[in-house]
Amino acid sequence: MSSQIIDGPAGLDRLPQERRVVTEIPGPRSRELQERRAAAVAPGVSSVLPVYVVDAGGGVVVDADGNSLIDFGSGIAVTNVGNANPRVAERVAAQAGRFTHTCFMVAPYESYVAVCEALNRLTPGDHEKRTFLVNSGAEAVENAVKVARYATGRQAVVVFDHGYHGRTLLTMTLTAKNMPYKHGFGPYAPEVYRMPMAYPFRWPGGPENCGPEAAEQAIDQITKRIGAGNVAAVVIEPIQGEGGFVVPPDGFLTAIAAFCRDNGILFVADEVQTGFARTGDLFACEHEGVVPDIITTAKGIAGGMPLAAVTGRADVLDTVHPGGLGGTYGGNPVSCEAALAVLDEIENGKLVERARGIGEIMLPRLRALAGRHDVIGDVRGRGAMTAIELVRPGTKEPDPGLTSRVARRCHESGLLVLTAGTYGNVLRFLPPLVIPEHLLLEGLDVLDEAFAAL
Ligand SMILES: *Cc1c(COP(=O)(O)O)cnc(C)c1O
Repeated sequence: MSSQIIDGPAGLDRLPQERRVVTEIPGPRSRELQERRAAAVAPGVSSVLPVYVVDAGGGVVVDADGNSLIDFGSGIAVTNVGNANPRVAERVAAQAGRFTHTCFMVAPYESYVAVCEALNRLTPGDHEKRTFLVNSGAEAVENAVKVARYATGRQAVVVFDHGYHGRTLLTMTLTAKNMPYKHGFGPYAPEVYRMPMAYPFRWPGGPENCGPEAAEQAIDQITKRIGAGNVAAVVIEPIQGEGGFVVPPDGFLTAIAAFCRDNGILFVADEVQTGFARTGDLFACEHEGVVPDIITTAKGIAGGMPLAAVTGRADVLDTVHPGGLGGTYGGNPVSCEAALAVLDEIENGKLVERARGIGEIMLPRLRALAGRHDVIGDVRGRGAMTAIELVRPGTKEPDPGLTSRVARRCHESGLLVLTAGTYGNVLRFLPPLVIPEHLLLEGLDVLDEAFAAL
């Protein structure tokens, strides 16, 4: 990766780009705040690492005790352009000084339209598109299903094993994993059907047969169990996020998309986590040239300001009656300014290329690590979305205990990493795309040491 990008517009000069551990982690100040939190905040909301943040930018997060942690999480793939990216901060501040809200459904403003224009232009496919804006990934997916049902007049929705689509009633139903997302929160929404996912590492017939076999099984089950003519939409993450960065083999998504096209089913790509340059393409669907009928985006869209979008074929989106879609805050003007700054930054900072560069550094290092430690069963990912899956040596039996011990060890050494996966045995890495190369390498060294120590 060239250093000219590192010194570019991401504002890396504001905060020292260094790992610095000056107390235990979490330190005394964070522990104090954690006690206050326990008395005030509902415990159902948990934190990966309870260090209380006072500053963040480039490749670091700084806590209340003065520790500077290398950020391999980006707030779950959100701060792709870097935290408090100066362009984002500038436009947010300027907009906050003009007006913070009118409600687009009451009196509109230009930035909302500009974000929709940009998404129509940048998302896969050169057909005519429409977009509308909401607040969160879950809200985007939920709305995509509403639109798909409206446009097709059908009810069934197909999702996949290990999929994650959010925490609202419908999107929790679309989500695969019981604990913690669904447990005790039923009854779930009706007309949701789950299919086998092309998960190469765990495919019974072996990784080489995974793509075609998984597609065949999904198509067979849709046809036999639901009836293709009853299906409004297939909703799928092109690379699964919370499910453990499961990358389906080439050919799987294209086979599902072709089946959808042949049967009048809308193919909905949930790119909430994979979007906005994360995987080394602006959107992960581009990797195989898959053109979704509807695409949902959020996370990386606005540098952390709450915003999400539903973008789709004009003939699909145009069916819904005026007033059928929307929400009080959807497309908030401050968030829209942030999104416009993010899109500029992705282009000007060459962040698609940077995401690829990050993958080119990380994947070989992770494979070398797997060569030294037989607890690493699989290394996978694309661009700046990479992961390792931990198992008991010589088996595919998940080892979530070891996974959390490695994560904790990294945290204590000043590296913020996240876990994922249906079995809780995946370490996933989502550095900001503007992370300086020396921090990326140092983060990998910390991971190396954590494995060596355990
Ligand atoms: C995070 C995520 C969601 C939910 O987004 P929220 O903003 O948390 O509601 C939906 N789909 C995918 C793929 C996600 O990663």
